[in-house]
Amino acid sequence: MRALVRHAHARVPFYRRRMDAAGVRPEMIRTLEDLARLPIVSKADLRETPLSDLLAAGMRPADCFLVETSGSTGEPTRLYKDRGALFSVGAWASPPNISRWVGRRARRLMTLFVRHEHTLEAGLVRSLPRALLRVHEGDALAPPELQLRELNTHRPDLLITYPSVLRGLALVAKERGEPVHHPTAIVLSAEVFDAPTRRLAAEVFTSAYFNAYGSTEAGLMALECYHHRGLHVTGTRTIAELLHDGRPVAPGEAGEVVVTDLTNLATPIIRYAGLGDVAVWSPARCPCGRALPLLEVIEGRRVDAFVLPDGRIVHPYRLTLAIEHIDGVHRYQIVQEAPDRVRVFLVGPAGDGVATRQMVADAVAAILGPQVTIAVEPVAAIPPAPGEPGPRPVRSTVRH
Ligand SMILES: [Zn+2]
Repeated sequence: MRALVRHAHARVPFYRRRMDAAGVRPEMIRTLEDLARLPIVSKADLRETPLSDLLAAGMRPADCFLVETSGSTGEPTRLYKDRGALFSVGAWASPPNISRWVGRRARRLMTLFVRHEHTLEAGLVRSLPRALLRVHEGDALAPPELQLRELNTHRPDLLITYPSVLRGLALVAKERGEPVHHPTAIVLSAEVFDAPTRRLAAEVFTSAYFNAYGSTEAGLMALECYHHRGLHVTGTRTIAELLHDGRPVAPGEAGEVVVTDLTNLATPIIRYAGLGDVAVWSPARCPCGRALPLLEVIEGRRVDAFVLPDGRIVHPYRLTLAIEHIDGVHRYQIVQEAPDRVRVFLVGPAGDGVATRQMVADAVAAILGPQVTIAVEPVAAIPPAPGEPGPRPVRSTVRH
C-alpha cells in the first residue's frame, strides 16, 4: 500500500493533484488507518479525467490493457491494467486456486460473461499464457439453449457466470428434461444470487454454489470458501473499506464499499467509491482459518432481468450494451413497468434529441420485440430507489 501511494503521487498526474490539494504527502501514509487520509475517488472522477492523466508516467498504453466497465452502472469507465494486475486476477481466478476455496478439484473452467472488446476477462485471456489460464469463454447474452449445448460439450468442472444467466440455463434444462452436465462448482458474481434462483438451480444442477465479488475497476475483491460464512476479502491484492458518512462502519452496520487495488500500477485504484455497492462486515471467524476479513452481505449491484410476456428472459446487459454506445447517451434508466411495457429515461442532451430518442427506442425494440411497448422520455435526473446508493440502469417492477 505504501509503495502504491508513493508510485501514484510520483507518477500519476490525477493522484498527485488530488493528494496535493488535500495536503497529503505519501510519507504520511504508513499504516492501514492512514489510508483514510487520502481523498476518495468517485466514478465521475475516473470518467471525467483524461486517460492520459490516469496513466502512470513511464507506462506505455501498448504494454497495458484498456478495460471498460459495462452494464452494471449505466455509465462506462475506462482504465488501464498492467500485466501485474492481470496476473494477480488470473492467479486468483485460476482453477488450482479456486479448487482450494471450493474444496473440490476443478480443472476445466468455463465462463458465461458479457463479451465486448474491453472486458477484464478479455484482458486476462489475452495477456496470460494459455498454460496458466485455460478457459472456455461462453457468451452470457447467447440464447440459453446454445449455452446449455456448450456446457454439455465442454463439461467444465467450474462454471463462472451471473445468477440471471444461471436462471435462464436452469429453466431451459428443466423444460427440456434432457441430461445436463453438472459442473462440480458454480461461482456466481455481479448480481445477488437470490433464494428463488438458488432453488431453481438446485432442481437442475447438483453443483456446489459459491459467491464471488469482483469489479472491472479492481478485479476479484472477495470470494466465498466452502464454509459459506460470507465472502473473504482477497487481502493480498485488495483493501476493502466500508464507510458510512465517510467513517468506517462497525460489524453488522451497512457501509458503502471503497476499494484499493494493490496490484495495478498502470492506473492505480486507491480508495475508489464508484462501485455503488453496500456491504456489511461479518463479526464471525470462518472455520477455514483464513484471517481475511469477511463480508457478509453485498447489495447494490443487483441488475434485474426482464421476463417478457412469452416467458423469454432478457439479460439487462443486453439492453445496456445496446444503448450506451449511442452518441450522447450517458445517464439513463430502463424500467419494465409491466411485462409488455417498458420506459426509458434519458438525462441531458440525449433526452432532448428526437433522433437520439428514436435510436434508443429502436435499439431496445430490436431486443424486446414487437410485443412490448417502449416509451423514451427525457428527464432532468434519475433518483435512486429508496435504500439504494445510486439509480440502477435497468429495473423491473414486475414481480414473478
Ligand atoms: Zn472461510
